Amino acid sequence: MASMPRCNKHTDCFALSDESRCVCLAENDFGKKDCPFYKPGDETTREQIEADIKLYGLTHAGSGKE
Ligand code: SF4
Repeated sequence: MASMPRCNKHTDCFALSDESRCVCLAENDFGKKDCPFYKPGDETTREQIEADIKLYGLTHAGSGKE
C-alpha cells in the first residue's frame, strides 16, 4: 500500500484522516501551490475526487516526471 503523506493544509478536507494524513494521494508536495484536490468534506464525493486525480494524472503524463 502506498504511503499516506501528512497534510496540514486544510483541516476540513474530505481526504484527511484522523491522523492528519491524506488517504487519496501518494504524494502531496505541490511546491508553493495549494493542493489542487482539496475539497471541503461536505461538498464533495469520493467519485468526484477520484475523477479529478485521474484527470490530473492524464494531464501530467509524459511530463518527464516518474
Ligand atoms: S487532497 Fe490535498 S488538501 Fe486534501 S488531504 Fe490530500 S493533500 Fe491534503
